[in-house]
This record gives sequence, structure tokens and C-alpha cells, in this order.
Amino acid sequence: MDARLLEILVCPICKGPLDYLKDQQVLVCKADRLAYPIRDGIPVMLEDEARAMSAEEVDALR
Ligand SMILES: [Zn+2]
Repeated sequence: MDARLLEILVCPICKGPLDYLKDQQVLVCKADRLAYPIRDGIPVMLEDEARAMSAEEVDALR
């Protein structure tokens, strides 16, 4: 995914920064524990489409 695009993307809920997980093709908001999918290179920044992550999953990213 485009690094510049990643820099301007924020969580639509809390407006916080996102972590890009290349292997899972998701953008993670640690604050909300949500993983937004990237489909065909396009980040889907919708709460309804995001996967809820467990606290353990988020902790593993720190
Ligand atoms: Zn957030």
C-alpha cells in the first residue's frame, strides 16, 4: 500500500493513528481495537466493516 496514503489515514472514530499490518492487510486502531480491512489496495475505513480485536491481539502489536 502507498506509504503516503497511510500517513494521511486516521481512524474514523477517534481520529487517531493507524498501524498497517502488511501480512494481514489491515489497518489497526489500537485505541478502539479495530482492524480495518484493505481490499484490492483500498482501505475500507468503515466501522461496520472493521474487525474487533482482542486486547491480547492489540497488546501483541505494541
Ligand atoms: Zn480509533
